[in-house]
Amino acid sequence: MLQSLLFTKTRKEAPKDEVSKNADLLIRAGFIHKEMAGVYSFLPLGLRVIEKIKNIVREEMNATYGQEMQLTALQDKDVWEKSGRWNDEVIDVWFKTDLKAGGELGLAPTHEEPLTSLMKNFIRSYRDLPLYPYQFQTKFRNETRAKSGILRGREFLMKDLYSFSKDENEHTVFYDKMSKIYRDIFEKVGLGEHTYFTLASGGSFSKFSHEFQTVTSAGEDTIFVCEKCKMAVNKEIIEDQKMCPQCKNEDLVEKTSIEVGNIFNLGTRFSDTLNLTYLDDKGKPQAVFMGSYGIGIGRLMGTIVEVLADEKGIVWPKSVAPFLVHLIVVGESDEVKNSAQKIYDELNTQKVEVLFDDRDVRAGEKFADSDLIGIPYRIVISEKTLAEKSAEIKVRATGNTEMRPLADLKVDAIAVLDAF
Ligand code: ATP
Ligand code: MG
Repeated sequence: MLQSLLFTKTRKEAPKDEVSKNADLLIRAGFIHKEMAGVYSFLPLGLRVIEKIKNIVREEMNATYGQEMQLTALQDKDVWEKSGRWNDEVIDVWFKTDLKAGGELGLAPTHEEPLTSLMKNFIRSYRDLPLYPYQFQTKFRNETRAKSGILRGREFLMKDLYSFSKDENEHTVFYDKMSKIYRDIFEKVGLGEHTYFTLASGGSFSKFSHEFQTVTSAGEDTIFVCEKCKMAVNKEIIEDQKMCPQCKNEDLVEKTSIEVGNIFNLGTRFSDTLNLTYLDDKGKPQAVFMGSYGIGIGRLMGTIVEVLADEKGIVWPKSVAPFLVHLIVVGESDEVKNSAQKIYDELNTQKVEVLFDDRDVRAGEKFADSDLIGIPYRIVISEKTLAEKSAEIKVRATGNTEMRPLADLKVDAIAVLDAF
């Protein structure tokens, strides 16, 4: 992509009312736009990151027999009344509206009810189970505090998978598998060492649930971490659980964190109230045993920014970066411009994702913008580098800078970059 054609521009300052680091950096770098508190649009650069994260999550879900679908945002009041969750005291973040034709509907804050209800059309016998439908869907929640940028939106993207199993045993096998897969996902997006598998309250569904909590000062949760086995306990249940649930170590360390994912044993809470049953091998009806598994896709993007950014700007891990390479041309001469254009074409041919800063602005401005945007590798072509038939390569995360022959980049740029 040519930066001169990108309609977003970097900004020196974010909106005055923006207090979170993630939104401040993402707005200034042109990834998101603030519509109002807790409501953000994703611009071309931002959408590329969202799609990268979604694809990492999608691959993992598909590999465990997940079936992607998409439910509606508009919700039928009747279904939620049956489960008892239409009530504003039970779900206190509902957005609801009156229909002109009469009646009321709501904007989905989560999707247990409509999916359980939908599955009644498809689940008949034990042969139909287990099933793992999932989606990437926008959720709406009337959050009172929406001061954490894209960490806490009133409209936000979630991956939610729901498991439909024959019984608790079958459920538990999948639940354990999913907790390992979640760990892999947070590893892949660059948050592995900062993210803890955390015992938490099961809310109204069961005694416990498990959260994935990433340590950051921007977080709104408090967890107690076991440094020995890397598990944690959410403060909300610390009275019940004063030691590490895994190794029984009592020496836990308090940390501030953000919940990036949450997995629940729902039991038969929804299948009972919405009457989702299957016929077992003796032809007897049984309640379907359910679980739910969420990841905040936008929150994850914001968390990556919070955890990895430095004083110059965002630092994207390669796996989720909008582009792998930020190619920058410095100098006015035709020779420099043509060489940079050639390298750009070469990289595209090699299917390397490149943002090419071909703008007519000062070198200093280009470098500052590049640091702010946070693309993993910066490749600079200038009179000076051409004199050595080379390009200067800088790694955003480490600041490590070295010259590499243009000829090598033309043969295999990825190999050159990977060698850093
Ligand atoms: P929190 O305790 O932070 O309010 P939650 O427990 O209500 O979150 P869940 O209902 O478990 O959240 O939703 C699944 C995932 O969706 C969460 O783990 C989180 O990553 C994400 N999420 C929840 N609320 C928001 C929000 N307002 N904005 C962005 N992401 C969110
Ligand atoms: Mg939660």
